[in-house]
Amino acid sequence: MIKKVIGIVIVLGAFAGGLVWLLNNEPAGGSEGFSEGAEVRAVTTSTMVTDMVKAVGGERVSVIGLMGPNVDPHSFQVTSAASAALKKADMVFYSGLHLEGKMQEILEKRAADKKDTFAVTDGIPKEMLLKPAEEFVGYYDPHVWGNPELWAYCLNVVVATLSEQDPDGAEGYKKRAEIYRQELLELHAWTKKRMTEVPQGQRVLVTSHDAFFYLGNAYGFEVRGLQGVSTNSEAGLKDRADLVRFIQQRQLKMIFPESSVNAKGIQAVADEAKVEVSEDKLFSDAMGKPGDVVERNGESYDRGTYIGMMKHNVNAIVEGLK
Ligand SMILES: [Zn+2]
Repeated sequence: MIKKVIGIVIVLGAFAGGLVWLLNNEPAGGSEGFSEGAEVRAVTTSTMVTDMVKAVGGERVSVIGLMGPNVDPHSFQVTSAASAALKKADMVFYSGLHLEGKMQEILEKRAADKKDTFAVTDGIPKEMLLKPAEEFVGYYDPHVWGNPELWAYCLNVVVATLSEQDPDGAEGYKKRAEIYRQELLELHAWTKKRMTEVPQGQRVLVTSHDAFFYLGNAYGFEVRGLQGVSTNSEAGLKDRADLVRFIQQRQLKMIFPESSVNAKGIQAVADEAKVEVSEDKLFSDAMGKPGDVVERNGESYDRGTYIGMMKHNVNAIVEGLK
């Protein structure tokens, strides 16, 4: 009887935990509608794509981002609000490389039918993309924004397609894209410098899922995730045991949860490996809430922007590992 009661309590607890998780990670987009008077009505998927299209589009483009802060793009499914926004859109921008796993078919079909739907990662030269080792066979790793220098290539797709849709705005799109590109390159240089503060032997990043290979590759960090490249595949017991052993062998000081992935899995690994979990959740596949401005090391930034999200991640990683 007691066992049964404990079982029920655990199940209820897990259910409540899941519910809180869902409530905190509601998709934001779709409900407000496009602003009137805009030249182009664009729908975007992930928050990083939304940030880029808004920056390039300026006031000429009204943007509805389907995925809100902390929403996992791998598992996002089209809601009725999202579908209403998609119906009214002149253009759709998505990240691509199968990041939007559950939306992929809808996006590809629309791209073929209407020719108004674009994957921004098509702007990145194929030889610069990474191929994950095991799962995701035949596909590239979609988490390209981990390296701002690579992410900057995506601007080319946004500028070219917006300019074709709205030629009168072309000059403005180009100008704003150049400003944004400059910011991304500055971020890349800042990150490069800051990451060298972590001693060589401690440059190991363990997180909830394999979202940081591009970041690791660009800045010389070894990267391990509990789950694979997509959060749609669960980590098996063996994966977990391997990761625990790895953490112990490498004597890591800290491992990191992610804002768009339930932290339970990484916490369980940390408990087993007796390693600290960072209080800073890394923004892997989604930015923070807009207007979430923080001050760190005498600098302030908004974690609800791409640049702010990256600064947060880099500061958290450097301070946690050095
Ligand atoms: Zn991911």
